[in-house]
Amino acid sequence: MPLKLYNTLTKRIEDFEPLNPPEVRMYTCGPTVYDFVHIGNFRTFMFQDIVRRYLLYKGFRLRHVMNITDVEDKIIANARKQGVPIGEYTRKYEQGFLEDMATLKIQRPEVMPRATEHIGSMLELVRRLAERGLTYRGDGSTYYRIAGFPDYGKLSGLDASRQDAGRADRVDEDEYSKENPRDFVLWKAQREGETSWDSTFGPGRPGWHLECSAMSMEYLGETFDIHCGGVDLIFPHHENEIAQSEGATGKPFVRYWLHGAHLIVDGQKMSKSLGNFFTLRDLLERGCDPVALRYLLFSVHYRKQLNFTFEGVEQAEAALRRANDFLLRVREIGDDVEGDSEFPARVEVARRQFEDSMDDDLNTSAALAALFELIRDGNVALEEGRVGAAGRDRILDFFRGANRVFDVFQVEGEQLDDEEILRLIEEREEARRERDFRRADEIRDELTNRGIQLEDTREGTRWKRRG
Ligand code: AMP
Ligand code: ZN
Repeated sequence: MPLKLYNTLTKRIEDFEPLNPPEVRMYTCGPTVYDFVHIGNFRTFMFQDIVRRYLLYKGFRLRHVMNITDVEDKIIANARKQGVPIGEYTRKYEQGFLEDMATLKIQRPEVMPRATEHIGSMLELVRRLAERGLTYRGDGSTYYRIAGFPDYGKLSGLDASRQDAGRADRVDEDEYSKENPRDFVLWKAQREGETSWDSTFGPGRPGWHLECSAMSMEYLGETFDIHCGGVDLIFPHHENEIAQSEGATGKPFVRYWLHGAHLIVDGQKMSKSLGNFFTLRDLLERGCDPVALRYLLFSVHYRKQLNFTFEGVEQAEAALRRANDFLLRVREIGDDVEGDSEFPARVEVARRQFEDSMDDDLNTSAALAALFELIRDGNVALEEGRVGAAGRDRILDFFRGANRVFDVFQVEGEQLDDEEILRLIEEREEARRERDFRRADEIRDELTNRGIQLEDTREGTRWKRRG
C-alpha cells in the first residue's frame, strides 16, 4: 500500500510520491537554542523522527535537513546579559539538544545547519526578492511586501486582504515600521550593541523566517518533498517561508506540508512562556525512563493533542514491560520446539495491520494496537505451547521491523554488564536483609532470565553467565 499523508496545503490525505524516487528530501524546523528544549518541543521532534524512520522502513532514501536557530532576539539578549558572544552562549544548548535527542533515540538528520553559518545564502535570497520588487526598506530594516505575492495565505487559509490581518504577526516582536501589518522582516537593522553582519542591505541580522527558506533550498533544491513542524508554525512561519521561497523562485516550494499537534498540560500548550514545561532532564531526574518517554511521545497519532501526565509515563513504562516480558519468553523457546503451524500466519496479520496503520497517515496508535493484540494472543499461545521455533523467529523478525520505526522494544536479549549484575546482587542482598523475599526472588528471576546464574555460598553470592 502507498503511504498516505495529510497535507496541510491541500487539506487532504494524499498518496505520498516523492519527486525523485527513491529519494525523499525533507526539511524539519529545528530548535531555537536559547535554553534546553522542553518535551512539548520533543513531541514534534519525535513525530518528525517517526516520519523519517517510516520513510526509511518503506525503502526510501532520505536527505533530511534540520536547522539550528542560533541567532534570535532571546539569544542575543541572554548572551548580552552574560557578556559572551552568541556562539559561546548557544553552543551549550545546542550540545544539550543533541544529547537529549540521543537519549530519546531520535535519529540525526543528514544535515543540521546553523543559521549563523548561512548568512550569505540568506542575503542572496533577499537580493532575489528585491529584484522581483518584493521588498522595501524602513528604518534600516528590509521587509517582505506580501501585497506583491497573491498566494499569501494559501497554507494557513488566511485571507491576507482582511483588515485585522496584522494581529498574529506581533509574535515576531518586530517593532519596526511596516507598510502593512502582515509584512514581515527579512533583514533587521542592527540595534545598538547587538550582533550583526555587514551587507548591501546595511548592517543587521536575518529575520527568523528567512533562515528556513534559505537553508532548505540550499541543501534540498528549490522544490522538495516534505516540510514538517508543529501546528503553531503554520502561521506565520511556514506561510512566510512559502512567500519567500516561491516569491524568489516562481516555483512550488514544498509538495507535502506536515504538522504535528501539541503536547498539552491541563488543557494548555506546554510552553516556555506559560512556565508549564518540563525539560527531558527534569523528567529523568524524577526517575522517568527515557525509552518510556519516547514511547509516550509517539503513542498518540501526531495530529491529535497529547495530554502529558505522570500517569501517562507510568502507563508507557507498563506497556513496555509487558512487551519486553513477552519478547523474553519468546526468545526462550528452543530451536527444537514445534508449535502450531498456523501461528506464523497470526504474526503476518499483525505485520499487515502495523504497516496498514502506518501507511494511513502514520497512525502510530493503531500500529501499537496491532502489536499489543499480537502480544495478547501470543501470551495465550505461549501458555498452550503453540508458538514454537518458527513462530518465535517470525515474532522476533516482526518486532525487529517495528523497532526500526519505534525503537523501544528489547528484541535481542540485552547483555548485562558486570557492574549492573553486581548492583542487582547487592540490591537482592539488601532485600533479603530486610526480609523482602518477594523482591529478592524477583531480582534472582530477572537475572536468570537474562542468562545470569546465581549461587549463594557462605562467602556471599557468586554469579556466572550461562554459556
Ligand atoms: P521552537 O524552538 O519554539 O521554534 O519550537 C521547536 C518545535 O517545537 C516547533 O516545531 C514547534 O512547533 C514545536 N512545539 C513548541 N511547543 C510545542 C508543544 N507544546 N507541543 C508540541 N510541539 C511544540
Ligand atoms: Zn523553520
